[in-house]
Amino acid sequence: MRLLEHEAKTLLQASTVPIPQGDIITKDTSTYSIHTPIVLKSQVPVGGRGKLGGVVIVESPDFLKNAIDKLFSLDIKGYKPTTLLAEERLSIAHEHYLSLLINRNTSDIRLIAHTDGGVEVENNSTQDFLNVSINKWAIKDRAEQLASYLGYDLEIIHPLLENIYAAFIKNDATLLEINPLIYTVNGDLVCGDCKMELDDAASFRHPDWDFEDKPSDTNFVSLDPLGSIATIANGAGLAMATVDAVAARGMKPANFLDIGGGANTASVLKAFQRIMEFPHIDAIVINIFAGITRCDEVAKAIIEAKKQIDSLPPLFIRLAGTNFEEAVALLAEEDIATMASLDECLTAAKEITHA
Ligand code: GDP
Ligand code: MN
Repeated sequence: MRLLEHEAKTLLQASTVPIPQGDIITKDTSTYSIHTPIVLKSQVPVGGRGKLGGVVIVESPDFLKNAIDKLFSLDIKGYKPTTLLAEERLSIAHEHYLSLLINRNTSDIRLIAHTDGGVEVENNSTQDFLNVSINKWAIKDRAEQLASYLGYDLEIIHPLLENIYAAFIKNDATLLEINPLIYTVNGDLVCGDCKMELDDAASFRHPDWDFEDKPSDTNFVSLDPLGSIATIANGAGLAMATVDAVAARGMKPANFLDIGGGANTASVLKAFQRIMEFPHIDAIVINIFAGITRCDEVAKAIIEAKKQIDSLPPLFIRLAGTNFEEAVALLAEEDIATMASLDECLTAAKEITHA
């Protein structure tokens, strides 16, 4: 499960990793205890917000209300925020990149760093990164390496790395990425942004986990090479058959997705959001044969997705089984058509994609 920035920062703070002072703003917030200049940040579960207008510096209280309204209505890669993070504006001397992640191929945790972080970090060439294995016995050694690589004293880097490593382990993270790690003009190192992914399989030992982006029952695999026809189905068998049927018609499937037996509106809606992270989708084929799953729950998610996601590609929907009539009635109210068979869906999809 992926956390929002403010959720990740709360976990960092609990491990005494320095973060900027901040406040959460929701749509219901009417008075602000924050003092400009501040940075307003859209809390969406995707990166690259800065380049898309999702990070805004507000200099004066006169501009605050307007900036907040704008951010709430700004769609970032298919997501609109339900919360904003308002933080003290830091005066940046330098931005670094620092991350820990589990590498399943090498069965270890990697410590990856770059002297130049920030929104252009992808432009750095791979060889320039510090990329070393880390474990609890090697923290001091790695801190020495990191300190000399970034050009700081070990006294600053060692506790920082210890705390970041502790946050990673304690929270069963698979990824903890700090970009930028900000070196301020006052000489402090502060985590400017944090992306964190937690291991869903470890949720049983974290009864306290209660994040906006909850562990889901959805089973999602993006396909390589990535196609342009997304699929949503229920049951692993039907989901695989749907992917195969798309391919058999000469179209390129983008993903396998089994929404599972207990799928509800929220989890199906999340499936749509995952699909919208793909760079280019021509159509979404939805193939549900409902037993435990209820067609009306899927229908509600489809309606919600249409409302929430501006750039939703055309949907081709085949529903059958439990609460089918209720679902069709709900969809008809919104002028959303369903089709009698998967075959019909694929024919229609093929027509509009000219694939
Ligand atoms: P991302 O684009 O989604 O990764 O969002 P970030 O939170 O990383 O912010 C993007 C960029 O905004 C950072 O790399 C900084 O250059 C800038 N930024 C963020 N916070 C501050 C701040 O407190 N002060 C200044 N001057 N710039 C900031
Ligand atoms: Mn960032």
